[in-house]
Amino acid sequence: MRTSIAQTPKQYQHLERIDKDIAAGYAFSPCSKCPASVEEPGTLHRSNYERKPRGFAAGKEPATCVRDSFCCSAEGCRKRTTPESVRFLKGRVYLGVVVALVAAMRHGPNAVRMKVLEEHLGVDRTTVARWCRWWREDFVDMPFWRELRRTLVPRPEEALLPGSLWERYGRTREGMIEMLKALGPVTTATGREGR
Ligand SMILES: [Zn+2]
Repeated sequence: MRTSIAQTPKQYQHLERIDKDIAAGYAFSPCSKCPASVEEPGTLHRSNYERKPRGFAAGKEPATCVRDSFCCSAEGCRKRTTPESVRFLKGRVYLGVVVALVAAMRHGPNAVRMKVLEEHLGVDRTTVARWCRWWREDFVDMPFWRELRRTLVPRPEEALLPGSLWERYGRTREGMIEMLKALGPVTTATGREGR
């Protein structure tokens, strides 16, 4: 049974490549966080950091899990800028969890699907419950979501998130990638992770 698009290393690498493409647009661009006290605004230099892979069962996690990130070059600023990511949502939780949840939410997290989630991804019922709450309580309150929702016809039903959102993207693997790209801003809006 397929539960996740990021289940295999190849699929993971595809998502990683998307993140690299997004991050490439930030390299050596001007820092947008320099305070007024800095005479000459800095440029962004690479300063990646490693994240512990999460959401995968033991032995199934990717060998390395690097979050693309940058630091300002200007003395007196040095602030970190972290690009959007299709692999990380809300900074901490791993994409696989989200994807698996979407699969689970297609028909509701029944006992069989919960077992698959536990075995393949090492996520338990509590994690699933927490993530359902996040989608339906926190996510729906984000201005980003209200904006995105307006562009989707018909509007996804919030009580059925994230499955209803995936539906707007065709419920295909390609659609999933598109959806995760669209969700990119969420990962930087709240993603103060790393430092
Ligand atoms: Zn700066």
